[in-house]
Amino acid sequence: MNKLCCPFDKHDLDLKVFVKNEAGDILEGLLTCVKCKRYFPIIYGIPVMTPDEYREKALEQPIVRRWLPDHRSEGFLLND
Ligand SMILES: [Zn+2]
Repeated sequence: MNKLCCPFDKHDLDLKVFVKNEAGDILEGLLTCVKCKRYFPIIYGIPVMTPDEYREKALEQPIVRRWLPDHRSEGFLLND
């Protein structure tokens, strides 16, 4: 995967990998901005990096909770 940066503030993103395929490609993961703590899920190998107003919280949050059962954030910020 190419080096990605936060679309809001251009800071680096931390990557957590949850599922890889046999080729080593990331299928499910979570990118977290080191600066603003926004998270961007990787779903079916595609990083979801749309602006907040176009994101589907109802679709993303069940996935993020499955990866991180302790996740309590109501927005798109990761508090850990
Ligand atoms: Zn950021």
